Order: sequence, then structure tokens, then C-alpha cells
Amino acid sequence: MSRFLDTSIEFIKGIGPQKAQLFKEELGVESFDDLLNFFPFRYEDRSQISKISSLEDDSPNVLLVGTVLNKSIIGMKRQKRLVTTFDDGSGKIELVWFKGVPWMDKKVLPGTRYLVYGKPTLFNRKFNIAHPEIEVYSSASINNGGFVPVYHTTEKLRRKFLDSRGLAKIIQPFSIEKSKLLNENLSEALLQKTKVISRADAYSQVHAPKDHKEAKEARFRLKLEELFFIQLKLLLQKEGRKEVFKGPVFNKAKLLTRFYKEIIPFELTNAQKNVVKEIYADMNSGTQMNRLLQGDVGSGKTIVSFICMLLAIDGEAQCALMAPTEILAQQHFQNISGFCEKLDIEVLLLTGSTKKAERQTIDEKLRSGSLGILVGTHALLEDKVVFRNLGLAVIDEQHRFGVAQRAKLWNKNKSLSPHILVMTATPIPRTLAMTLYGDLDVSVIDELPKGRKPIETKHYFDSGRLKVFGFLKKQIESGNQVYIVYPLIEESEKLDLKDLMDGYESVRRSFPELPIGVLHGKMKPQDKDWEMERFKKGETKILVSTTVIEVGVDVPNASVMVIENAEKFGLAQLHQLRGRVGRGGTQSYCILMSGNKLSKDARTRIQTMVRTNNGFEIADVDLSLRGPGEISGTRQSGGLELKIANLSEDGKLLQAARNLAKDVIEEDPKLEMLQNKMMKLHIDRMNASSINWNRIS
Ligand code: ADP
Ligand code: MG
Repeated sequence: MSRFLDTSIEFIKGIGPQKAQLFKEELGVESFDDLLNFFPFRYEDRSQISKISSLEDDSPNVLLVGTVLNKSIIGMKRQKRLVTTFDDGSGKIELVWFKGVPWMDKKVLPGTRYLVYGKPTLFNRKFNIAHPEIEVYSSASINNGGFVPVYHTTEKLRRKFLDSRGLAKIIQPFSIEKSKLLNENLSEALLQKTKVISRADAYSQVHAPKDHKEAKEARFRLKLEELFFIQLKLLLQKEGRKEVFKGPVFNKAKLLTRFYKEIIPFELTNAQKNVVKEIYADMNSGTQMNRLLQGDVGSGKTIVSFICMLLAIDGEAQCALMAPTEILAQQHFQNISGFCEKLDIEVLLLTGSTKKAERQTIDEKLRSGSLGILVGTHALLEDKVVFRNLGLAVIDEQHRFGVAQRAKLWNKNKSLSPHILVMTATPIPRTLAMTLYGDLDVSVIDELPKGRKPIETKHYFDSGRLKVFGFLKKQIESGNQVYIVYPLIEESEKLDLKDLMDGYESVRRSFPELPIGVLHGKMKPQDKDWEMERFKKGETKILVSTTVIEVGVDVPNASVMVIENAEKFGLAQLHQLRGRVGRGGTQSYCILMSGNKLSKDARTRIQTMVRTNNGFEIADVDLSLRGPGEISGTRQSGGLELKIANLSEDGKLLQAARNLAKDVIEEDPKLEMLQNKMMKLHIDRMNASSINWNRIS
């Protein structure tokens, strides 16, 4: 059934082959199905007529009825514009056209009553509307206008009279007629439970609603449907995997007990303890673990992952710990080495710069099984790296690794898939995690170790630099260290490097008596390490750097993070950078420096940073500013191309959709019951039209 949905839109009245081509190129709309799913992004109520006297500075689009009093063409050449005075009895406003001046000049006649629609803006204390929609007034035109959908369109389409209104003229009758042919895809039980309108009604109403209520009903139904099926699909996959992917069983805890009793230098936080319990349960369940561990920077994920590794090693298996950068891999290696020595576990480091001889040793020990833990960068993924028995793979800071790379680790054990623990310090908002990783289990460490003082964050304009430098001086005098970070944007690396070096020079001039280090991505790995080491040991007091220090590096004595050009950073990155300080017991500070001119978004980002230290709150703001695709970097994966729902607004609905899907799966794990047949069909269609990426996320 339903193959009519694949019909090309060129057969729709008002389209034809030429316009069909434009629809395809400009909007990606080719088939009936595409067109039905080309939703308006908002609606306008054109039944309400506004008064000019009550316009406000921030009025949205308004509908006015009045008379054109006079008009004139002023300005020369490119400045040329048609200016008319429009009067509705309550006041006057200017209507202005910069484009199509001769044509509008013919169309707009003084003394005639018009219906005008557009957005008023205040200019020189007078309101004007640039390029309003205008038509000769008749009472019919208002009622027809009524409640209208607004569609995205493009310049090219507009030239073919396919502005939002032109699109509506085609889409509205089409959707009213064709939606009748759409089959319901939610079960009777779900329809009753959720009280949503039918699919057929939804598709007609979303394009041609009578009023706000109808539009809302339609959008609600379609959003719920969209989110529900994504969740249903993910849960089905998870269900399927339980059968196919058995995991090794680790239930001995000898090493773990020793570690708790004799070695661990602090008490785990309750959040850490809970997560260890969850992971422990996974690792001896017989099913392969796929767990995402979220925890804010500094919440202590590393020790949790180490404890889990002990379980695997006690079960005679090996572990891999993969980090996104060499510096970070080294740091993990050093931290873990101390513990391993006391526990008689062999641990080695593998990165791109590992020497051949060392590599050979690693290979041998991996194959013989004597190597307990291999720490490294993506070098771990190479085919040459063969484990005797990989039982647990831990991936730190997963947002830097691609999905495909994770799949490689997954396949390193042929017989039983290793347990996978993905750790991320960029908190993903719950809604996003649920959609992206709906088939992963999620653990959260939502508590920082005791004794941490919240980092104080302040914003200064560049003009306040003297004050800031004075503050840095005091901090250093009392024994602390300082990071100063410059942005590095790839397209203009040269320029940024110059910024950095200029900054370094000016810092040196301001603090002539202090040892200062500099660190950037263009340096050789050895030089980077050397600089980092010097800073770690306290030999340099200030480290001027690009964002290479962003991830994971731990210098407890560093108490101040200065971020230059903070307006150029994204929120996630700012938060990540701030997480580099506040790791010891002293009060730490984050200072955001910026130019005077800030865009609205930049201001929001900076204010958010100043307001809160909570990574999840920050992630939510980030989501609403940037949208989900960019955050996850998975747009191409096909997982997030939501047509109508919006993750930053529809969090509650997503949760509801997930619960509904769970209930369905609990009762009918494979969707085999007759009453769920239409849902199975819909899922099959979804699967047929997208690549199956969830298997590996
Ligand atoms: P992240 O979650 O950002 O990876 P880390 O694992 O690097 O954080 O931990 C940050 C610091 O906190 C480390 O120095 C670690 O030793 C320390 N730490 C971890 N857990 C605790 C705890 N329960 N009590 C005190 N310090 C802890
Ligand atoms: Mg970490």
C-alpha cells in the first residue's frame, strides 16, 4: 500500500516538471511523501487587524487595514526606493520598497484602501514596514487570509512566485485531498491512550488548520508519532541485541576488594558508587554492556572506569582505555600506572609516537595475554592491535570519536563482544541522549567529590585587562598557576597563531619576572610534552595556550583559567576549558575576556557560563542555541533528522514517547501481535529508508 507516496510531485496541480526540479533542488522535496512532510515552521493569525497607534517596538508581523495617502520614489540608483505613507485612522506608518520599485509604483495607488501585512520596525522614531505584502482591501480577503501556515522558501522559489503564500496555495489543497489516503500507523490502543487525532487528520490540519487549536493538535500528533517511532526502533534494536550479543561474565572481585581496602586514596562519592554498582551488574549479566557514562568535568570518571577494569582483569580478560589525544592518553597512563604497580597488573601505552621496539613488546604481550591494560589513542583501533581476550573497552571523551571507530573496538573480540563503556564529559542533554543513544544504557555521575569549591566565573571586556592582570599577579604570588587560552579556529590557523604569539609577548611584558610557557598544536609532540611537564611541575607559572589543553589534563595547582576572545568559543568548549581548574582544594576562577561587541548568542553563552557550573544546564542552553545536529556531530548518521519535533523544546514529549514505546515492547518484544502490525510495517519502512547506524553507536 501507500506507494502513492512515492509519486513525483510534478503531477500535482500547479507544479509541473520545471517547478518540480526547483522543489527538489531548493527544498529537497521530490515525492508526495516529502511534500506532506514539508511542514510549516509557524502559523500566522491574519484574522486580527492591528492598529498603528498600538504598534510596539517588538511587534511581530501585523495586519493593517488603511489607505495609502501619498507615495514618492526617492534616492538614486541603488538607493532608489518607493516610500508611501499609510494611514489607518489611528496613526501613520511608512511602507517602503527597495526592490521591484517600478512595478510596486504601478500597483500601489494613493486613495485606495489596502490590506497590509509585514513586520514593523522603528526607524528614526517612526514605524515603517519594508516590503510588506499588500492587496486591495475587501472583507473577503481577511477571512480567506485567516489562519495561515508559513513555510520556509528560497530566493529562487520566490522568483517563481513560490513564496510562503504560493507554497501554501499548492500544499493546502494537496494535503487536504491526499491525507485521506494515509493509513493510521499507531495501534488502536495507543490512539486511545494518547487521545491524539488520526494520522489522516493530522496531515491535513498541519497544513491547513482552521485555527491555533487545530494546528496544535496536528503538530502534537505528528511530533509524538515521530518521537515514538524513533524510540520504538531503538528499543527494538536493543531487544534484538540482547539475544545476539552475549557478553563475557565477570563476577570475581578479588582485585577490586584489595583496591578498595589498601589502595584507593579517597572515598568514592555516592554517585560513583552507584555507577560502579550499575556497571558491575552489567558485567556479570551475560549480556554485552553498552553503557554511556556521563559526568561533569572533574566528577571522577577515570577511577570508576579503572574499578571496572579490575573486574575484567579478575576474570582473566584484558582491557583497553582509549583517549582522544596523546596528552590525555599519557595522563591516564600515568594515573593508572601507580595503581597497577601495587596490584601487579601490567599496563602499557600505545600512541602514534610509540617506537617500533616498544610496539613489538606491546603486540607480544597483548597476544600472550600478559598485558592487562592497554592505554592509548586511536592507534588502538588499528587492525594490527590484536588482543588475546579483550573483555572491556573504555572510551574516554567519546564526542571526539566517530561511530565507525567505536565499531572497530567492538569487533576486536571475535567470539564474545567486549563490554563497552563510553565516557563523556560533555554532558549530553537527557533528551538528546535518549534519541541518540536510546539503545545504550546511561549512567550519570551527578556529584563532585567532596571539598571542591565551585569555580567562580567572571566576564571582563578587553578594557578591563589591567585589572585582570593585577588579579593574576596576586594569585601567582600566593602560589597558584594560571592558564591563558586563545581560540584556535581551523580555517585561519595562521592568524590565530599570531594572536596567540602576540598574546604570549604581551603576557611576558606584563610579567617580566615570571617563567611563562607556551603551547599550541603546531608544536612537535615532544615539545608539547615538555611544556606541559614544566607547567605540571610548577616550573612555569603561566601557560599561554590554544585549546590543546581542552581535554582532561590535570594540574591541581592551576587555579585560574583565562579565556581570551571568549565570544569565539562554543559553550561546550568553554565549559570544558573551565573544567581544567578547580581540581585542587583552593578557590578557582575562570575569567572570560571578550571584545565590547557581542552577538546575542555570544552574550547568552557568556552569561550562562557566569551563572552556572552545572554541565547539564549548560548543555541544555547549548542545545537550544545550536540545535541537536551540531552538538552530536551525527547529522550525517541519519539519527537526528527530525522533521517536526524539536529536541530542545519537546523533552517532555520525548520522555512520554519513550515510555509508550517501552510499554509496547514489554508486551510485544518483537511486534508480532496483530494489533501492532501497522507499527511493525512503519518501522520496516523506516529501516528500509535509512542506514542502520544504531548497531554501532
Ligand atoms: P573526569 O570525570 O573529568 O575525567 P577525573 O577522573 O580526571 O575526572 O577526576 C578528577 C580528579 O578528581 C582526579 O584528580 C581524581 O583523582 C579525583 N577524584 C576522583 N574521584 C574522587 C573522589 N571520590 N574523591 C576525591 N577525589 C576524587
Ligand atoms: Mg576525564
